[in-house]
Order: sequence, then C-alpha cells, then structure tokens
Amino acid sequence: MYRTYNCGSLRINHVGQEVILSGWVQATREFGGLTFVDLRDRYGITQLVFNEEQNATLSDLAKSLGREFVIKAQGKVRERSNKNPNRATGDIEIEVDQLEIINASKVPPFTIEDESDGGDDLRMKYRYLDMRRNPVREKILFRSQVAYEVRSYLVKHDFVEIETPCLIKSTPEGARDFVVPSRMNPGQFYALPQSPQTFKQILMVAGFDRYFQIVKCFRDEDLRADRQPEFTQIDCEMAFVTQDEILTTFEGLTKHLFREILSLEMEDFPRMTYDNAITQYGSDKPDVRFDMTFKDFTKAAQGHGFQVFDHSEIILGIVVPGLAEQYSNKDINALTDWVKRPQIGAKGLVYIKWNHDGSIKSSIGKFYSDETLTQWAEQCGASKGDLILILSGETDSTRKQLGELRLEMGKRLGLLDPKDFKPLWVVDFPLLEWDEESGRFHAMHHPFTSPKASDVSKMLNGDHETMKQLRADAYDLVINGVEIGGGSIRIHDRALQERNFKLLGFTPEEAERQFGFLMGAFEYGAPPHGGIAFGFDRLCAVMKGSTSIRDFIAFPKNNMGRDMMIDAPSEIDTTQLKELSLRLMKE
Ligand code: ASP
Repeated sequence: MYRTYNCGSLRINHVGQEVILSGWVQATREFGGLTFVDLRDRYGITQLVFNEEQNATLSDLAKSLGREFVIKAQGKVRERSNKNPNRATGDIEIEVDQLEIINASKVPPFTIEDESDGGDDLRMKYRYLDMRRNPVREKILFRSQVAYEVRSYLVKHDFVEIETPCLIKSTPEGARDFVVPSRMNPGQFYALPQSPQTFKQILMVAGFDRYFQIVKCFRDEDLRADRQPEFTQIDCEMAFVTQDEILTTFEGLTKHLFREILSLEMEDFPRMTYDNAITQYGSDKPDVRFDMTFKDFTKAAQGHGFQVFDHSEIILGIVVPGLAEQYSNKDINALTDWVKRPQIGAKGLVYIKWNHDGSIKSSIGKFYSDETLTQWAEQCGASKGDLILILSGETDSTRKQLGELRLEMGKRLGLLDPKDFKPLWVVDFPLLEWDEESGRFHAMHHPFTSPKASDVSKMLNGDHETMKQLRADAYDLVINGVEIGGGSIRIHDRALQERNFKLLGFTPEEAERQFGFLMGAFEYGAPPHGGIAFGFDRLCAVMKGSTSIRDFIAFPKNNMGRDMMIDAPSEIDTTQLKELSLRLMKE
C-alpha cells in the first residue's frame, strides 16, 4: 500500500495513528539531531521528522533525499511543538519509522515554489514540474471545477452534450484555418474548426433543441500576448428562443458559476447597446468597474480660434477625480508621451485642472477664458480638485485612444480591483462592418447572424448606406473589460442567408460550395434558433482575477505557437510527405 492518507489531510485528531504517506520531497532541513522533510502531493504538505538518536540509519537515509524524490513514509502522527498556522496540516508531524525511496529525481531546473525562478519557456518545457507548483496546480483544478459546474447547470436546463467533428471543411470565419492534408484524398484538406458554429445550427435543425459542448477551437492567428492557437469554448445553441431568453439562460449560468465556485451572488447584469458602449467608453467591451465616461466638448470647444480643436471631427474628455493638484507638469508631460506612443497613437493631450480653490490651470488657457473652462468643468459633472483630460481628432480613433487613456487612469487610481466583478451585456451590434481597405462588408459577428426582425426588410431591399445601419440580434457578455462570451440569433431562412452571403461578397457559387449544406438544411424545417459561446480559458482566468489564460491550460503554447515540451510543430519525413501527396516549396 502506498498511502493511507494524502499529504493534506492529517489534523490534530489523528494524533497517535500509524499512517502511510507517499509524495514528493519539497524540502529537507536538519536541526540538531533532527531531520525534517516536507512531503508534498496535490492535496498539501505534511512534515516528516527523523530522529538521529532513535534511528541513525533511517535518519541518514532522510538526509540523502533530494528535492522532488518520490518517497513513501510510514510512522506515527504526533502533535508539533512548533505549529505552523499557515499550513492545514501545521498542527501535526509524522515521526517516521519506515522510509522507502520510490524514485529519485534529478535536481529540477527551477524551484518548485509559489514564486519560481524559471523563465516562461523553461517552465513550459518542464510543464510537469511547473504543474507541481501551487499556483499552476490550483488553476488547473479550478478549471476542472468550472467545467463541472457548467455541465451541472446546463444539463439541469435540458442541454444535451454533443460532440462535433474536428476534421471539417475550410471556411472563412474571421481567422485563418489550420488545415490537415487528407492522405486518402490527395490534394484535399480538412480544416480544424474555428468553432462548431454550423454544426450546432444543424443540430437545431435536427431537433435537439438545446446543445452544448466544452470544445477545442483552432484559429491560426498571429499570437498576441494572451492568445492561444487552440483554446476552449463553452459552445451552446438553443431553438425556439428569443434573444432575451438566451441572455437570461446564460446570465443564469454565469451567476451559477460565481455562486457555486466563488460564493458570490451577482446582481442582474445591466445591458448596454453597442452604440452607448462606443460613445461612452470607446470600446465594445467596456470596463464598468469605474465611471469616467466620455464627455463631449465638440460643440463647446470649436470656433474659439484653437486650430487643433477646430480641425477635429470630435473632442472628447474624461474627468479624473482628485488629480488636479496631484498631477504635476511632469506627470502631465509623461502622460502626454504615454498617449503619443504608437500603441495609442494620439497626437497630443489637453488638460484642464480645476483646483480646490476654484482656480483653473490648462494647456489651452490661451484660447479659452477661465470662466469658459470652469463652465465646461461644471457642465461635465467635474468637482473642484478634478483633472479633465481631452483628446481630439477623427471620431473612431479618438474614441479608441480615450478608451485606452480611461483604462490607464482607472489603473493608476487603483480602480481595477480584479475581485470586483462587474458583468454586463453589450447588445445591438451592427450586422455588417464596412472595410474601407478591401472595399467590402465584413460580418461583425459571423455570417450566420440574424439582423433584428425590424431590420429584415431593410436588409433585403435597402441600399449600400442602409446596410451600414443594420442592427443584429448579437450580444457579448463582458466582465471587467474582458469579452467572456458572444453570440447571436441566427438566420434560419435560406433567402435571407443568401442575401447575407451576397452582401459579404460571396458569389452564389461560392456560397453554395462553402455553405450549401447549411442553406440546404434550412429548406427542411429549420426552427428559429440562436446561441452563444463562452471563452472557457478566459472565463476561468477572469473568475480567478488573473489577466493571463496560459496557466489555466495544462499544456499551453508559447508566443510562437510552439509546444516547448513535445517540441511541436516539427518537420515530418519525406515518406510522410509523399503519402500525403505534399511537396515542400524550395526557396
Ligand atoms: N461561434 C461563435 C464564436 O465562436 C459564437 C456563437 O455565435 O455562438 O464566437
């Protein structure tokens, strides 16, 4: 027998019992004639003690143990004289009378501690060692708990878990596909799904009514900081539902997860239109943990001889509470440099300080009187002592830049508490997005998204400009400025789906070749339906107050899309290439 208890379970009431424990050596310490060994497993750490006077051979064996050796120890539980209140097992220790080395270990390449000294790639190469560390293990266990509660809630609500294939057909859904050559069909390729979108819709046509799957999705994108080429979604679809019923169901799921796992009761989620999100926060995923919404100075500020403002499409500001006197010229200059960085791209920054004594100090004092600026401050709801920061320029980019500045100021003021959860639904997204560069429309969500019922006839008959106004029954769940999930009511009518493909620049032949199966299914009694997908990795990270998804994935890839442990991707040999009818292009 390897163990009668695990390393996290013994307490004061076990004193006197003879027990067997197995695990890894976290650390050894010698003190007088005593040797202490911290024995670790998934459940915790228990202190073993060896007494040289009582058993010199055993004590010598204990001294020979290295970090991460796997051992089995048998002995009696006794009360510790020197208790450790930071450890669940800290009241007791094991007086060992038998010790067996099950497996030795090389010295690990980094410390297996909460704060490790290993760099990212090194820790990924030895991921099995990294996962022995508390912070990583806890995140993996947390993920498992979230998955369990997701299933529990959805199954209770009549959702059926159905698997969809991984080898599918390459279709454009926003990102690039990963493709897999077919040996049996030379010159042909499968694609890995970017999401099971069309399959879940087909399942609704098949009558399953409520579907879910915790499923891997694949997108071949250039990897930005916290993206993974393969990631997991909680993918869901429902038939015979309105947008409202979908939002209620998945608000229910989110509340269930926070209640069961974090013991947090969430209030009802507010809903904000896409337009409001953009005009007040400069983002379709607003962080509403703090206020600082945009104030529009365009009308008030133009026509006073200040060229920069007069030539701007829009002039927007935020009121930063309490910083008027706290921010020196040097701070303002540094902030100006911050907004001018290419990542933000603003041309400059205007400030108005409304000091506590009522005086005004501003970078545009030459063009506007103190009375005018005081009036602005009053009108935009500022108080004495506040700092107003203003950006101007072209509408979309100014909003985006001010959105970034707002977040930065929120961060500087300590308003982004990761344990303060502020969810909201962003609704009424535009259906289509006009792309100047390519001169065509893109689907804002995806090509299967339905316009709002009131916009259907406009979509079928309207002109080019009308198409830009169309609103969709599409929605995102946002928590603390992070997009957790998104979905839509779908088109379930062949004619409307054909129209959408046409607007998106597909010829009828292309649409038929790529999505004929779906439009065909719509001709056999497709029910109205809609759904949503949650980013599972990201949801776990946000719930844990973490900004990185990587440690919530057991075997993540690095920024080059590389698995450092198995060293993939890798070359394949020429026989394999031949079998697949592939030839590598020579430079
Ligand atoms: N398939 C969509 C996505 O992956 C989600 C949905 O519309 O249900 O974003």
